[in-house]
Amino acid sequence: MRTAMRAGRIGSAELADLVARGASLDFSFPVSSLTRLAALAPPATMVGTARLDSGFTFQAGAEGYPQVHLVVTGSVPLVCQRCLGLLEWPVSVDVRLTMVRDDQEAGVLAEPFDTVLLADGDLLPEQVVEDEVLAALPLAPKHADGTPCGIGADREGGRDANVKSGEMHRPMAGLADLLGRGDRQGDK
Ligand SMILES: [Zn+2]
Repeated sequence: MRTAMRAGRIGSAELADLVARGASLDFSFPVSSLTRLAALAPPATMVGTARLDSGFTFQAGAEGYPQVHLVVTGSVPLVCQRCLGLLEWPVSVDVRLTMVRDDQEAGVLAEPFDTVLLADGDLLPEQVVEDEVLAALPLAPKHADGTPCGIGADREGGRDANVKSGEMHRPMAGLADLLGRGDRQGDK
């Protein structure tokens, strides 16, 4: 493993060399540089601290096209769809993608959707990471039932506890009713 080159683009000649050697590359991206992901964060959130770590392992594919095994970990700040607060969504992507130059090449593959489109023969790691993380995100992320809304946001990483979509729980609604009743009694 090494973390050498610029993350923006791997040229076709180098890509061929990486595949021939079965090499691995690591890239780390601040979420703030991934504009489509950064746009999903709550407005007040400092997206700058969240990072995604990725590992690309290249290999010759069985169907005549090179493949890359991509692993992405880290977290992405999202908006909880129940409380609209910050939800640090843990990212865990582990996919094997076939690298093709165009849709026509993708069409002949057994798994045409597990592909990466090369840009004039070049691989764009940052774009691939963002595409794959976006594809893995839930449509309506919510804090888990075991981690009440508004609390999980402060936890480092939030890796294990606070994510799961489920039915609505509104513990605060009952509390507000109680408080409201108390206020009205106090006004008399
Ligand atoms: Zn929430």
